[in-house]
Amino acid sequence: MAIPTEIVGSLPRPMKLQEAYQDLDDGKIDFSELQKLQDEAAEDSIRRLEETGQSPVTDGEQRESSFATYPLTDTLAGTGLADNLAAGDGQYFAIFDDGHHRQLPRLTGGPFKYKTYASEFVEKNKKIAKGDVKQAVIAPSMLMLLYPLDDEIEGYSREEFLSDLVDECEKDIRQCFDAGAVRVSIDFTEGRLANKNDSRNPWTGKDMLQEFIDLNNRVLDRFSPEERRNIGIHTCPGGDCDSVHSKDVPYEKLLNHMFDINAGYFLIQCSSEDDRESVYKLCGENRREDANGVPQVCFMGVINPLSPEVETPEQIKNELVTAAKYIPVERLGATDDCGFSPFSRDVKPSHGSPDFARDVAMQKISARLEGARMATEELGV
Ligand SMILES: [Zn+2]
Repeated sequence: MAIPTEIVGSLPRPMKLQEAYQDLDDGKIDFSELQKLQDEAAEDSIRRLEETGQSPVTDGEQRESSFATYPLTDTLAGTGLADNLAAGDGQYFAIFDDGHHRQLPRLTGGPFKYKTYASEFVEKNKKIAKGDVKQAVIAPSMLMLLYPLDDEIEGYSREEFLSDLVDECEKDIRQCFDAGAVRVSIDFTEGRLANKNDSRNPWTGKDMLQEFIDLNNRVLDRFSPEERRNIGIHTCPGGDCDSVHSKDVPYEKLLNHMFDINAGYFLIQCSSEDDRESVYKLCGENRREDANGVPQVCFMGVINPLSPEVETPEQIKNELVTAAKYIPVERLGATDDCGFSPFSRDVKPSHGSPDFARDVAMQKISARLEGARMATEELGV
């Protein structure tokens, strides 16, 4: 059995598409014109991923305002915002190391409903792809930050909101499978950030990791072990405009707890860590062979999407062989540290342009596939 590989989700949006998102905000085009360009970029993403041999494929999230806000708004500026949300003064979901931030809308009342489910993308992608399709969805633990951190919303209690949120997240995942996705991974970038203690971003000082894990399990526990085999959790220290938000938080604070989530597999940032071997070890020690009926598979990040330098298959092979010292090889996979552009606006400065960054992403994915093939051979599996 070959060492499996999986893409996290996103690819850089072509500059033309990023400008179209802006044009929608500026009222220069309507949503159908944006959608035409999104569909073109999605089709190009799928075709090019298929050329590398990557399976399952994604559409590179070309139709999403971001990995976190796709259910809520058409653009990051808040054009086409869902009901009961206000733009501009919600919580920061992250303040990045270079000082830029990304902000969530603020919930103003209930009930909480998604405006867009990720299955809409799966349905479109299934018509384009020759083979299997996967979809990334956002974790309830991120969207719980839509609710004010300390205050109660009059007429809509925190518990009512969380109950609606869990229903919506379950529906988001279930509909992706129903639309034909073979894998659904849940983006959990707020996991490591939960121990940041950044005074500019109050929720990161409230020790919320356990609350996040419990909430994610409220969703996962609604799925059978067979279903959870194909439901993953992605963790990373963020990756936006060449910057990260929580790489300075000791990784063990997350990895000692993350595997309490009853998911069947994990997509784990690792290649940009200084001490990668300790990460393999922590994953090997903490992963569970029986997470309520499902063994947990660790897909280790062997590609750094923030760097334009393309990893060699040899480097990747060596990393996977080292990882196999700590993680049983039948529970080991390879992935990228993160999506290549989680947010719709990211010009990929260190690459020079997002269009060039798309080319680089394909080279990196090809290298990952080849490196995993070489590791499979060397480990004799
Ligand atoms: Zn990520």
